[in-house]
Amino acid sequence: MSDTTSKLNLVDATVQAFASDGPLARTMPEFEARAGQVEMAAAVARVFDRGGLLLAEAGTGTGKTLAYLVPAILRRERVLISTGTKNLQEQIFFKDIPALRDALGVPFTATYMKGRANYLCLHKLDQLNDGDPRALRGGGSQRALGEEVFLPIIRQWSATTQTGDRAELEDLPEDLPFWNEVAATADTCLGSECERYDDCFITRMRQRAAASDVVIVNHHLLCADAAVRQNAYGEVIPACHRAVLDEAHQLEDIATQYFGYSLSNYRVEELARDVERSLVAIVGDDRQARDDIAKAIEKLRDYARAFFTELAFAHRGDRAERGRAATEWGRGPTSVKNEERVRATADSLAQASEPAAHLASALDIVQSTLALLVRLQADRAGHDDDRETRDEMIATLVRRSGEIRDDLRFLMRGGAERGEGVNAERVREAGAGVNKSFVYFVEFRGRGIFLRAAPIDVSAIVRELLLDKMHATVLTSATLAVDGSFDYIRDRLGIRRAEEVRLASEFDFARQAILYLPRRMPDPRSEGFEVAAGREVIEILKRTEGRAFVLFTSYSTMRAVQAIAELSLDYPILAQGTAPRSQLLKLFRDTPHAVLFATSSFWQGVDVAGDALSCVIVDKLPFASPGDPITAARIDAIRTRGGDPFAEYQVPLAILTLQQGLGRLIRHRRDRGVMAVLDPRLRTMGYGRRFISSLPPAPVVHDLRQLTAFFSG
Ligand code: SF4
Repeated sequence: MSDTTSKLNLVDATVQAFASDGPLARTMPEFEARAGQVEMAAAVARVFDRGGLLLAEAGTGTGKTLAYLVPAILRRERVLISTGTKNLQEQIFFKDIPALRDALGVPFTATYMKGRANYLCLHKLDQLNDGDPRALRGGGSQRALGEEVFLPIIRQWSATTQTGDRAELEDLPEDLPFWNEVAATADTCLGSECERYDDCFITRMRQRAAASDVVIVNHHLLCADAAVRQNAYGEVIPACHRAVLDEAHQLEDIATQYFGYSLSNYRVEELARDVERSLVAIVGDDRQARDDIAKAIEKLRDYARAFFTELAFAHRGDRAERGRAATEWGRGPTSVKNEERVRATADSLAQASEPAAHLASALDIVQSTLALLVRLQADRAGHDDDRETRDEMIATLVRRSGEIRDDLRFLMRGGAERGEGVNAERVREAGAGVNKSFVYFVEFRGRGIFLRAAPIDVSAIVRELLLDKMHATVLTSATLAVDGSFDYIRDRLGIRRAEEVRLASEFDFARQAILYLPRRMPDPRSEGFEVAAGREVIEILKRTEGRAFVLFTSYSTMRAVQAIAELSLDYPILAQGTAPRSQLLKLFRDTPHAVLFATSSFWQGVDVAGDALSCVIVDKLPFASPGDPITAARIDAIRTRGGDPFAEYQVPLAILTLQQGLGRLIRHRRDRGVMAVLDPRLRTMGYGRRFISSLPPAPVVHDLRQLTAFFSG
């Protein structure tokens, strides 16, 4: 710590860092002293010192990342920073941290951690390198292609990479199935028994993080880590007593994904393949053992096929209904094209109970056959160098077979009972009854069929597994309050006592933006909406000369409006789904007058400063679809306790989402532009006022001529 900061307490040192003649002003060219930023930084410093919770809503342009990073660094004890999006995680590590290292004159180290699946598993790569002919068996053409094209590239890179992070391989397709063959997933990890443990990228990352002052993760890793922390298997984040959770409005959704149960055809197939892959290593020349395992795996595959076929059959209703559920606005990153969720009931699950019982016994057989092998090997005389690794490989496979069987039984009983299990244990500890705390559903994603149970209410889990573990936690976001209060987020995340700070945006919305609400739009549920929306989009884009995000709540409306707009506009049109998100964004920034048509994944975490983005159009108020099983279960739960789900849950959630979507427009003091919402309910329904009062304070206009005037002004 510098001499100056060591003599001051944390709050004073923090405030001084932000002073107009302080270290940030002296070293950061774009820095300007902002009252809101100092207020938030001081509040963060106070909570770091005293302990407890701080809820901080920091409007756009307040500089919230510096406001928490400065006290985090000056505190000189390890602080965990978790973000909702990769973009923000990268901004903090690659931009803010180096700038603060120069500015503060305080020596500190920082580590950037991603989810385990981003890193290469050297043990898996060794198995493939060894040329085991069974290693890639049963994978079909995709896997053969992966092996032929990508394995040599990965092998070459593995010799030089310091991190093992796949992001270094820029040409690797984002969704390459083959990567899973070499990814360092917790499921397949041998832990300290692995012979590559010391040079393993996960071990090294964990060691770096344990020696770091600032550890930067994302909510996915944070929740995944908390989900495995109970048994300490696969845990990577070092213990921290202070945490900042940025983009905290995403936490409920992400926790919902990680604190549930899931069984898929992929998971069973991965187990089958991993057993086959390990066969030579674990049984050597023992023909009898090989045959026994091969038979057990064949049965496993047969029964898994029968079970997932029956499950799909029992949960796929008529096509029209499926189409509707699949295209409505969903929740978070799961709401993508070619995806649907169908709620599972005791009756629907009962239809697949017989093949489920067969699958469970096939898993039993795999488990007991492997366990027998361990005993036989142990009885054998002699010892070889690979013995410990081999034993651990078998033990890992035994454990996985048992976990899959237990999850299958739990899911098929609709959560009625469960003997073992980290999650059930945790939920029980968190004060929730296991049985009624989950919603069960089947998710169809591409070729994947997933039977899932998701916690309906994550508040007790978040509180006990994340927040209560910390001495001090800051939850922050540009959008955290609804109707001027934090009640909604407190309720959803189980927050009892917390200090609160709300900072208005630093941008001058009265001058920088207008909010256009067309007067004559039909009800968004009516047939004429798409044509009317198409007409409005064309008229708006003519006045903004393209340069717009047009954000939709469903793919079907997006496609319909896009088709109408393409007939009348000459501006370059980009559409979500035609290329990976990062490529589309780059193309948008680099293409003059471009227009991007997109759905949920562009509503947040996307930053385009400058003229390239001068307009954001939203088609409908982004209410979560009541057809989505998780939303429906949450609505039911609120109704059961006598609450009003629409006012308490659906409206606040939609307000936060709309704030995020429209928040894409003004990212800098020099930005100007139009926010447009085509949904007439904003004006005509009583709850519309709640939305309007939560939006940035831009002048509201109803006439297209005012758009022309705004841009010529
Ligand atoms: S310790 Fe786990 S992740 Fe690391 S190389 Fe071994 S098996 Fe792979």
